[in-house]
Amino acid sequence: MPAALKLIDVTIAYHGHPAVHHVSGAFEKGSLTAIVGPNGAGKSTLLGAMAGLTRVNQGAIEFDQFDAQQHHQIAFLRQLSGINQDFPLRVLEVVAMGAWQEIGAWGAIKGAVLTRIEAALAQVAMEGFEDRLIDELSVGQLQRVLFARLIVQDAPIILLDEPFNALDATTTTDLLKIIHSWHADGRTVVAVLHDLQMVKDHFPRTLLMARELIDWGNTADVLATDNLARAQTNSLAWQDTASWCHVPGTLEAVNVKSHHHGAHDHG
Ligand code: ADP
Ligand code: MG
Repeated sequence: MPAALKLIDVTIAYHGHPAVHHVSGAFEKGSLTAIVGPNGAGKSTLLGAMAGLTRVNQGAIEFDQFDAQQHHQIAFLRQLSGINQDFPLRVLEVVAMGAWQEIGAWGAIKGAVLTRIEAALAQVAMEGFEDRLIDELSVGQLQRVLFARLIVQDAPIILLDEPFNALDATTTTDLLKIIHSWHADGRTVVAVLHDLQMVKDHFPRTLLMARELIDWGNTADVLATDNLARAQTNSLAWQDTASWCHVPGTLEAVNVKSHHHGAHDHG
């Protein structure tokens, strides 16, 4: 299987401190992968970079030639949705954002696109909610709407950051079914998750990280106890103030602040 997305020695730093450190590997086309790791492990940072929203400081993220032609071919659902619920948007408008390439900024939502939106709302059991304001929705209903947006976007690569946080069991089960349908379509799906039982039950592949890659492969192998312990130890050993490791020619690229006590060279 060719790779849909390749990570080549990816390092991403905030203010000179790496949040993702020398991560390499590939997401095969059509794979269904969970990204797992402790809080602050760099999972959201990595996903944001894969979505093209965060700059990679060192290394590269490469896409399959076919998919790479259009960056909108990547659908991304942020942690905590990234939708401002105070802004008066209607459900129809939010789902239509998945088709903005076709509609344009101020275009009318009609015809084939409207049909697609209606079908997506039906798939997430939110038909009839088109005119509701999103600030009137429950957390679960909002997440259903955001999944409908992803369905409308129809992208070959779908990235989800903690999509089940704060959701009840019914919503979780319904949205998991949609993830499985994407997998059955042959799309490449990557989700940051915390529930290891869910990962074991539903995600064939797992990327375990704690700033650095701990393991990446079949879920049953990756979630072996010693790996999880290593991830935990790694996260404790790492501090936000850890310095950029010394790779010749790269130190100039970032401004390593010297006033952080306890910063150390490594790698
Ligand atoms: P995770 O999603 O695994 O919990 P994150 O990628 O959100 O981890 O964060 C990784 C590290 O990077 C954390 O130490 C976090 O505090 C830091 N970080 C995340 N986003 C930013 C940011 N915008 N500016 C500075 N530091 C950040
Ligand atoms: Mg996160």
